[in-house]
Amino acid sequence: MNIDREKIIQTQKDLSNLIGCPGHEEEVTDYILTRLEECSVDKAWVDPLGNVLATKAGGREDGLKILLDAHVDEVGFMISHIDDSGFIRIAPLGGVDKRLMLGSILQFQSGKPERVLGIVGTSPPHITKPDEREKVPPIEDLFVDIGCSNIDEVRKYGLDVGSVGTFYTEFKQINENVLIGKAFDDRTACNVLLQVLLLCANENVPNTILANFAVQEEVGGRGATVGAYSLDPDIALALENTIASDMPGVPPHKVVTKLGAGPAVTAADRSLITPKIILERIKQAAEIDNIPWQYKKPIYGGSDGGRIAISKSGVPTSVVSVPCRYIHSNVALLHLDDIINTIKLVRNFCKI
Ligand SMILES: [Zn+2]
Repeated sequence: MNIDREKIIQTQKDLSNLIGCPGHEEEVTDYILTRLEECSVDKAWVDPLGNVLATKAGGREDGLKILLDAHVDEVGFMISHIDDSGFIRIAPLGGVDKRLMLGSILQFQSGKPERVLGIVGTSPPHITKPDEREKVPPIEDLFVDIGCSNIDEVRKYGLDVGSVGTFYTEFKQINENVLIGKAFDDRTACNVLLQVLLLCANENVPNTILANFAVQEEVGGRGATVGAYSLDPDIALALENTIASDMPGVPPHKVVTKLGAGPAVTAADRSLITPKIILERIKQAAEIDNIPWQYKKPIYGGSDGGRIAISKSGVPTSVVSVPCRYIHSNVALLHLDDIINTIKLVRNFCKI
């Protein structure tokens, strides 16, 4: 299997640095469409909701139609109010940890290539009461300062109510195997899916691969719902980035997954229970190349998999995830080998 580490790192960097808030994923979907040109898919198109769908016919007439879904959106913020002095209020899109907000730098899409940067401000500690300093304020009480002094100035920068943004974080490789950046949930799986399609471009795959680079997962699996309906698969895998909680202060039974221990297979989460037939197929896929894998401990989180599983008359579905520390925060951390082993596992899953 021809796995190109440098190409995987570069793709992770490209994808991580793009902004793709729910409902505003065009930067990411444009990138995916361009990258699909190298993947020899039979067809790639954007559906009315904004999903990038692609199909590649299998070589065997009685082959299965396998859906691979990875979501392109990330948690972020929408401008909800701009006051007369040019300060901005924001509403979260998806589950953002409010403890990480104060003092963060945010970046907003402005309709031009340039991002507008701002900081999440708060009253100076000198004029705050001691008990206020101990509290984590709710996101709606925070303001973003982009250095403007009135609402017209804010609008001149291309921002208004409804504009969206994310944490401002640049991707970095911090050692040979460890990558840090934003939006690893779920751009990592977009990377995995692109690499699987690239590998399958040059191989004889008996089954038909259906891909959904799905929009709006973080607000409730909307892209997955319509994508699964139109692609009509026999079986499916949602590809994800999931909680690695192997860190100080976490007891063993709450370590959902471990970094570096390979792809995490969902036995059950809040939206889905993996059918035995799919679990066996995943195990078989791992055995082929002795790929390390781990269970994602029940019953944390939900995913696009839950929506796919109940599409039409039902689709046997599971979720395979790259473990990642600090997801839904301003910066996450993962291990390159986990990405590579996930690519291998998913590729084998399609080839059986
Ligand atoms: Zn996700």
